[in-house]
Amino acid sequence: MTHTSESTYKNIQGAISKAGQDLGFSAATIADMTEPYNVINQTVSVDGVGNVDMYRVQYNNALGPYKGGIRFHPAVDLDEVKTLAITMMLKCSLVGIPMGGAKGGATIDPRDLSDAQIEAVARAWARTMAPYIGVDKDIPAPDVNTNGQTMSYMLDEFEKTVGRSEPGVITGKPIALGGSQGREQATSQGGVYVLEHLLTHLPDRAGDKRVIVQGFGNVGSFAALILAERGFTIVGVSDSKGGVYDPRGLDVVAIAKEKNSNRTSLQDLFASDDEVQKVTNEELLVLDCDILIPAALEGQITVENAADIKAGLILELANNPTSSEADLILKERDVIVVPDFLANAGGVTVSYLEWVQNRQQYYWTAEEVDHKLKPIMTTASEAVYQTSINSSLTLREAGFRLAVQRIGEAVALRGRV
Ligand code: NAD
Repeated sequence: MTHTSESTYKNIQGAISKAGQDLGFSAATIADMTEPYNVINQTVSVDGVGNVDMYRVQYNNALGPYKGGIRFHPAVDLDEVKTLAITMMLKCSLVGIPMGGAKGGATIDPRDLSDAQIEAVARAWARTMAPYIGVDKDIPAPDVNTNGQTMSYMLDEFEKTVGRSEPGVITGKPIALGGSQGREQATSQGGVYVLEHLLTHLPDRAGDKRVIVQGFGNVGSFAALILAERGFTIVGVSDSKGGVYDPRGLDVVAIAKEKNSNRTSLQDLFASDDEVQKVTNEELLVLDCDILIPAALEGQITVENAADIKAGLILELANNPTSSEADLILKERDVIVVPDFLANAGGVTVSYLEWVQNRQQYYWTAEEVDHKLKPIMTTASEAVYQTSINSSLTLREAGFRLAVQRIGEAVALRGRV
């Protein structure tokens, strides 16, 4: 277990308890929201790979079936999966999706594996978890190092195992297998809707609209591209090898094109351009900008760097990028933090819309999907903002209060406690 996941998990449980107490829920109702309903943790022998630790954690299905992604990463452990699962529970509740929380993973480093080995791990994960997932039970999706291809293998293996077609068992599928228009960029698009809505209340935070994005994977690259299209200037971006910074602005369309076709690191792309600064990921976070977007892994903003961050607003597109100690420092410094479970909820929202389309076997255009995503994100942002103002809470505290209110009410109505 990593120290970061362990402390992040305890902090989220603590924040749910605090919100639950403030709302007057009983100790039993609070306990129902803070502990997982099911933990599946098996070591599975995968042909050609060896033993792989596989996880699925399910958190509170009072609002509906469990929902959450699957991560393939060497740092995946039970605490990390629990942390991500409890966050999914909050996220679904906060944006009003009728689903509970879940997360899954396999402890592998995909960079060490061939495509065939990754497929074998994906199929083994689906076979192992087949008894626990299902269209009305628990619906997985992609997360770090998994994608539409991984979901395709998992769908195929699950359907073979249960002996029937069930496209809605998994989301984030390619369009050809029942995926939704707009899913690929949904997390970033949703985050941009949240940001733009909050900036209508906080116009001074936009500054000169200079943005730094940490992480240039699915979420980070689409966030940079969408924001650039909407008139923001992307001054810094990074990947796991390091970052590049140019106060004049970076051509993110060219960067994305080059990175997709050549798979080179960002710093290599600019190796011969002396005007673009090459920086470490640590340095990138504290460089001058108006809006900072962590879009890589957890635990990036800590006591070590929170006091040095120049941005006036942080949009958390990654899950759990800010430690709770750092959160306090940022609060004292009046840096506004848009919490992950609001900022990146566009991903699960379009996953939910994919599930709805699979169930009705009728598919929407990209415009129709976007037309449904935007009001969901804007309504949640407005509710969080108003709660923060009316109750003198940070946006994160307000988000906890609203999310816990919905889940707690559903738990109480069902008479579960
Ligand atoms: P991804 O694997 O596509 O991209 C991750 C990016 O982070 C890559 O560019 C990688 O090079 C970079 N990276 C890895 N380690 C880094 C480090 N130490 N410092 C800086 N950069 C580093 O993953 P993704 O799907 O874009 O997910 C990114 C984050 O967003 C994760 O926290 C994930 O949980 C969260 N998230 C993703 C979705 C989604 O729809 N994909 C939805 C909600 C939340």
